[in-house]
Amino acid sequence: MPTNKRVLITGAGGFIGHHLVKHLKNLGYWVRGADLKYPEFEETTADEFEILDLRYRENCLKACLDIDEAYSLAADMGGMGYISAHHAEILHNNILINAHMLEAARTHSVGRYFFTSSACVYPEFKQTDTNVTPLKEEDVYPAQPQDAYGWEKLFTERMCIHYREDYGLDTRIVRFHNIFGPLGTWEGGREKAPAAISRKVAVAKLTGNHEIEIWGDGEQTRSFCYIDDCVEGLYKLMQSDFVEPLNLGQDRMVTINELTDIISGIAGIETARKHVPGPQGVRGRNSDNTLLRQVLNWEPQISLEEGLSITYGWIEEQVRAKYNLSDSINPDTVEG
Ligand code: NAD
Repeated sequence: MPTNKRVLITGAGGFIGHHLVKHLKNLGYWVRGADLKYPEFEETTADEFEILDLRYRENCLKACLDIDEAYSLAADMGGMGYISAHHAEILHNNILINAHMLEAARTHSVGRYFFTSSACVYPEFKQTDTNVTPLKEEDVYPAQPQDAYGWEKLFTERMCIHYREDYGLDTRIVRFHNIFGPLGTWEGGREKAPAAISRKVAVAKLTGNHEIEIWGDGEQTRSFCYIDDCVEGLYKLMQSDFVEPLNLGQDRMVTINELTDIISGIAGIETARKHVPGPQGVRGRNSDNTLLRQVLNWEPQISLEEGLSITYGWIEEQVRAKYNLSDSINPDTVEG
């Protein structure tokens, strides 16, 4: 059990970062969290938590001081609604965070550096069909990533590779495919599909108005990976010798309509889908986990139904608490 290592987790006030802090604390690490904000839904268990804007060089240097290993999760990000509408801002903020973090890690001789990339790096021209061929790591070039968010992730992957080759910074790179779970953003515009749909279903259940708005025809496909699998895989990759980008996700593809039906079933209601215009991202996306299985001798274990059941339960609690009601709420007081 590693007890003497000092670890930095940036984005520790966010969804995955907060879960990762808990995971590494349980494993016995000394953890410093850094973020613009504290975790929203639970106290952090980090040994130190610094409120820092990591777009600035001096703050990245402060975060990396006396650190053995860094997990770089801080990013300006959100679901499709957010990343399709804030291209310049996302590029500007995330390029600054990642360029300064890599340089600070090099300056302070951080032993290992982990970058969280995304399935958004994969070319849009390979994702035009709902019945998409699962994406292998090598499919990333020729490049045509999704949105400015995907371009920035791909650019930072290149930076990590060159910092390793030119300066010997020992980098690891993961490409997440739709991570979901409790203690994540569930309202406000940055939430992703599983959280947004869980919120809509909870509101439908509590108001008795069972109509749910879905962006587009709902036939777009994705795979979804539960947070406990995400942090476990992430940690395994950090311990491995594998330095190239690696997919981390489930390889079971579902449509957004199917996802809605599963969540409605968990809530114990039938919902009527109302299809409305809205950003949908690529038409289909799935993870090819061949390399993941080979490199880590492991793959995500938790089923979509099991993960959604925990996530939905938590979001229903948040909706009830927000509206301060135990059983039902007035539809007129609730945002869609
Ligand atoms: P999140 O938004 O919950 O967490 C990101 C955190 O970064 C937030 O707490 C935010 O405050 C912080 N941050 C933003 N700008 C900052 C700044 N200037 N200085 C310091 N902190 C700043 O997102 P998440 O889902 O936990 O994602 C974590 C990482 O994983 C991100 O890099 C994200 O791009 C990547 N990722 C996530 C998913 C997913 O499905 N959740 C998919 C692909 C990639």
